[in-house]
Amino acid sequence: MRRAWLRAAIVPVALLLSACATQSPVSSPTPEPLSPTPSVTTASETALTGNGDVPEVLDPDLLEHLPVTVHSQSGYQQHIFATWPEFGKPKIDAAIRGYYLSTIKQFEQDYPQPADPEAPSPELNLDWHLLAASPSMIGIVADGYQFAGADASDLWHSMWFDPSTDTVYQPADLVNSYAVSTALVGLEPSRRTMVTTLDLSPLGSNPYGAATLVAFTGNGDLIVGFDECQVAACVEDRVTMTIPATTVAPMLTAAGKRAQAAEMDPVDPTTTASASASSPSPVPVVTPQPTAKKVNCKKLKCVAITFDDGPGPYTKTLLSYLKAGNVPATFFMLGQQVDTYPHTALAVAKAGHEIGVHTWSHRDLTRLSPIQIDKEITSTVDIIRNETGVTPTLLRPPYGAVNSTVRKEARKAGLAVVLWNVDTLDWKTRSTPKTVKAALRDTRRGSIILLHDIHKTSVAAVPDIIAGLQAKGYTFVTVTDLLGNPQPGVMYRYGR
Ligand SMILES: [Zn+2]
Repeated sequence: MRRAWLRAAIVPVALLLSACATQSPVSSPTPEPLSPTPSVTTASETALTGNGDVPEVLDPDLLEHLPVTVHSQSGYQQHIFATWPEFGKPKIDAAIRGYYLSTIKQFEQDYPQPADPEAPSPELNLDWHLLAASPSMIGIVADGYQFAGADASDLWHSMWFDPSTDTVYQPADLVNSYAVSTALVGLEPSRRTMVTTLDLSPLGSNPYGAATLVAFTGNGDLIVGFDECQVAACVEDRVTMTIPATTVAPMLTAAGKRAQAAEMDPVDPTTTASASASSPSPVPVVTPQPTAKKVNCKKLKCVAITFDDGPGPYTKTLLSYLKAGNVPATFFMLGQQVDTYPHTALAVAKAGHEIGVHTWSHRDLTRLSPIQIDKEITSTVDIIRNETGVTPTLLRPPYGAVNSTVRKEARKAGLAVVLWNVDTLDWKTRSTPKTVKAALRDTRRGSIILLHDIHKTSVAAVPDIIAGLQAKGYTFVTVTDLLGNPQPGVMYRYGR
């Protein structure tokens, strides 16, 4: 199973705590052997780990047998991109959706688009990662970044729930929060060696209750995380504190023990004993990049239809529409979506469509360092190649945000930069008739049409767009065929 670190750029300072003397755990009989922790700390000693104690993130493919739907919401004026899963369980889904939508709403209120069109757009980016999976416990974390004016900050928020009973757990349901709070507060002086400005006192006697992240390490240690600026100076980043498995064991509730087990030993939530789910990882079938029948765009009225932000739950429906119209398309995929929908990505490749890179997490690349840009691009190239066998040659930067650094990194990665000249505004109107109308009205010879296959209304517009444009004499081709021989690092908005 693939495990990844949670957004590696964010390495919160982590501290390994032992419980304070008053909290010495009830000794023996240790119920179940917890996997070995590096050292058993005595009550008085505090071991410090330099960094890296962030929750381990699981391959979302573990959820492939659950009816998981990934929703996305985006905006261009304010650069907002949020993506979250829903599980077909009313209470759980309401809780997840509620968190994401309220975070977006708060951001929109706090940071409206500046009146000056030259001013940088505020940006909110909210991903999700799978923390834990078992038939009776799933944990996810919302991992966020926001930029407003001069300030950029990170946030995170964990959510735990039982998919078998549609139960949502609050952080206080997982542990004896008084005991955990006491452990955190009791060791505050020594923590100053790692987080110099740490101060839990504003949180009162129950700092655990204010934590925005509750999770476990692969060893079963409890991780309690706080947002930037919450318990330390903002420059100290997000702060996590880790309580060793041995010490935390007596503090865990039954739900907490299930959460811990689901993070240490994740299994497909739909399986009980069948080993089938974990074994067959998707077979990377090497499919050649579509070579397309030779279409001569010097003679024909060629156009390219493109789909961003997927693959998603509606992509397979889209594939059937494209097949019915005998239309090749170009999909600019997000790495995180390929990670969630690997089989759909493979189906896109097998159907002969072109696949390009839309980065891993949909950040505005112009705000990132060259190293971060490279990571966003190459991680996505890698997962596309691994899951579909296709090596992409095109990059569509999120929001169409490009500068010389982005072009340089694209060139290094061998990718041409592809924007569009027909924006259907499908992401904004969420209206099938309006999307069809915009596409038919604005398309000219050589157009590159922008759509998003993560919206049902957009996918529903495709049959009429195909029929309408074919009736006007247009021929659909992939972006590469439209452009002829696109060059790495060069930016294109339309073709011949
Ligand atoms: Zn996008």
